[in-house]
This record gives sequence, C-alpha cells and structure tokens, in this order.
Amino acid sequence: MDLHYEQVYKWGEEQLESADIAEAKLDARLLLEYVCGTDRNTLLIHGDREVSEKEYEYYVNYIVERKKHVPLQYITGVQEFMGLEFAVNKHVLIPRQDTEILVEEVMRHLHDGMHILDMCTGSGCILLSLLYYSNDCTGIGMDISQDALSVARENADKLKTLKNGLNVEFVQSDLFEQLEKNEEDGDKCQFEIIVSNPPYIKSDVIETLMPEVREYEPHSALDGKEDGLFFYRKIIERAGDYLAGGGELFFEIGYDQAADVKAMMEEAGYAEVEVVKDFAGLDRVVHGILNKSAV
Ligand code: GLN
Repeated sequence: MDLHYEQVYKWGEEQLESADIAEAKLDARLLLEYVCGTDRNTLLIHGDREVSEKEYEYYVNYIVERKKHVPLQYITGVQEFMGLEFAVNKHVLIPRQDTEILVEEVMRHLHDGMHILDMCTGSGCILLSLLYYSNDCTGIGMDISQDALSVARENADKLKTLKNGLNVEFVQSDLFEQLEKNEEDGDKCQFEIIVSNPPYIKSDVIETLMPEVREYEPHSALDGKEDGLFFYRKIIERAGDYLAGGGELFFEIGYDQAADVKAMMEEAGYAEVEVVKDFAGLDRVVHGILNKSAV
C-alpha cells in the first residue's frame, strides 16, 4: 500500500470534518506533522513523500482520538506558551493564549531577584515563563494535584537545560496549607509576587463548554464552585500573610468576574487594584498592591 502526504492529509481532514472538529484542516496537518516528524513547508511542498505504514497507523489512531474531541495538545503532548514549549497531559489545563496577558502583566511589575508564588500552578507555565524571562528571581509553584506537579517538574527540567540556574520548586499543597505548616515550624515564607490562575468556571457552566474542555480537561482545574469565585475568596483571605510589604497579587479572571474580584481585593486592603483586558477586549487580569498598614 503506497500512501503519500497529500492523500493522507486529505483523508485526515475529511475524517475530522465529519466529526465536526472546528479546525479540521489545521488539526489534520498538525497531527501528520507530528507523526512524520516534519514541518508545514516540507509537508506541503513534498505532497508525494511516502508515508510509512507505521506512520499511517499512528496517524489513524490519532485521528480517531481527535474525532472523539480529545484536545490536539493531549495527543501531541505539548503546547506553546510565551514562546516556550510546555509538556501537557490530561492532568493539567492546556495553557491558553489569554493567560499570556497575565504573565505579561506580572512581568511589567517584576524586578530582578524577586520571590514569586504561583498558586494553582498546573503545568507550571506561568511561573516558569516568569522565571525564564527574568533575572535571579526564584519561585514556588503550588498545586493540590501531584499529577499536575509531575508535569510542572518535567517542564522545569526542560527549561533548566535552556536557562542555567532557573530556580524553582514545586510543592503539593491545598492552597496555602503547606505554607501554614512551614510557618508553624517557624519557617515563614514571604513573596514579592503572588500570581494565580485558579479554577474559576461556575460549576453549572462547565457542562456548557466545548467537548474538548468539558470531557477531557481536568475539572479540578476549571471548577470555581457555585459562583466561580471560591478560589479567589480563599486566596485573598490568606495571600496577605505571605506577601511582603508592598507585594503584589495577580489573578487571571473570567470575563464577568472583574468587579467581584476587585471589590474583594479592595476590601482586603489592596491598593491600586487594576483590571486588564485581553485581546478580545474582555476583562482578564486583576492585580493590586498589598497595603499592609490598611490591613
Ligand atoms: N480560561 C479557561 C477556560 O476558558 C478556564 C481557566 C480557569 O478556570 N482557570 O476554559
């Protein structure tokens, strides 16, 4: 059986289209590139290049997966974020482009040598990007999921080969629990920056999300409980204890949560609380400076 790029690509596209995959053509191409270890140009220019039986077999399996709405990134195992490649699997949320706004906003406020806490770190993409693009900063990423932390550690190891001395630690913790324990042991951690993209989707909205998200991404990383604000409340309640004077708290938020999160932060003694929009013009980030004298 002689198979070539062009016909295999076409077959993949038709299969994905028949399953109502939104970006059928793009995904068919990306999967073929992945399977054949090639790139867009080679694939398009050398349409007559033979696809081996082994490659075809893998391709068919991946197309079958994608037809079931398994996210492309869980098949290829990677997602690009802030110009870096991050490993992902079903235990972590796939890094979103919108979240780059959060990273960029933190970077505008970041100075050399700062200590950063990333609460609900998932794949670690936020913290690791911050550390990669700054100098001499150190970071701790916390998550309740050990499986997620394994992914974050894998990503850290990979980035350490690109940047010597990247100083990061990933710790399992139900929100601030581990920091509270350390404090009881007389070891109090203070951070200049606390950043978080917590689960913030209202529980009853999750069922309305696209199947890729609803059926395959970890609900524990999405579900912000009844009003979607559960984790903001919890984090704002405790963050002040672990922020150095003048320290800053940064959140990613859902498009309709800015007013609530801003009000909670102001109530808790944060000053200069600002809302930042994403490229779609939707509220995406809230941040403020802890005014310790007001607490
Ligand atoms: N932005 C994500 C989504 O739209 C949700 C991220 C989160 O809950 N932190 O699916």
